[in-house]
Amino acid sequence: MWRKVRGIGAAVGLLVLIGSGCNGSGRGSSEPPSPLEESSAPHGEEPTFDEHSAFAFLQRQVDFGPRAPGTSGHSQARTYFLTTLRTYADAVTVQDFTHTGGGQTFTFTNILAEFNPTGSHPLLLGAHWDTRPLADQDPNPQNRSQPILGANDGASGVAVLLEIARVLKEHPPPRRVILALFDAEDLGQTPYAEEYSLGARYFAQHLGRFRPEEAIIVDMIGDRALRIYQEGHSLQFAPALVRKVFQTAAALGYPQFVPEPRYTIIDDHLPLLQAGIPAIDLIDFEYPEPPSPGRYWHTLEDTVDKCSSASLKAVGEVLLHLIFAAE
Ligand SMILES: [Zn+2]
Repeated sequence: MWRKVRGIGAAVGLLVLIGSGCNGSGRGSSEPPSPLEESSAPHGEEPTFDEHSAFAFLQRQVDFGPRAPGTSGHSQARTYFLTTLRTYADAVTVQDFTHTGGGQTFTFTNILAEFNPTGSHPLLLGAHWDTRPLADQDPNPQNRSQPILGANDGASGVAVLLEIARVLKEHPPPRRVILALFDAEDLGQTPYAEEYSLGARYFAQHLGRFRPEEAIIVDMIGDRALRIYQEGHSLQFAPALVRKVFQTAAALGYPQFVPEPRYTIIDDHLPLLQAGIPAIDLIDFEYPEPPSPGRYWHTLEDTVDKCSSASLKAVGEVLLHLIFAAE
């Protein structure tokens, strides 16, 4: 993702690229359980987001290596997501598309997993599953042609969505829920904003029956020192949804959500906003700490040890609460 420099407006040439990372529990002392392990509460009990299961979903993605378009990691991850989501969801739709840029043509895939597909008030939760092909912000010039692992920038948001999918299999939601794994968010090269969010853009241009009533994008939410501020475009174009999310986080007691504006980001919520959908972006763009975007963003340092299960839990519990809250 990208940060829009304050006061510059939509001047594409001045957009600053943003990255992500996860902090946290590495593969140290306690081994996470398998993502597929059934560890949720039995039917009838309160739906609970299992942070260890979520972290295992993060680790599993990173184990494929970089998931940049055209790589074997990308291909393996695609297969893994389809297999996993077909286990959990009521319906899974594969949205393949191609894009040519820089003289290369790639095939991309958005994956849409539905729960209670005939329910009302459709809510879309989205995250990008691709990882950036170049560590172009790495302090070591020799690393800048290498692909990033994207533990935070890619895997963290998807890990939260996969864990929510696991929970929704056990606890069918009262409203229609669409989990969207968007491809090709992070393929672009500064300063061409039009090369970013290719998957979300394709989705927004082919909504069909997938038009949600509201949408929440999660990106770079695995950082150990998680701080999610109110993103500028979200506040401007979907203020009611921003308020609802941050009030929920406060009610649940998650200080990782800071109810203040901080920065304005170009991310997968923008194509949805442009299609008239109230959409917000939950992102920590200080990886691992201020100043934004942080020293791990779009570097080889975006690794599992920079992410934490507690951060995934904070975001996941807030989203689950929004799914099950009475309308
Ligand atoms: Zn990125």
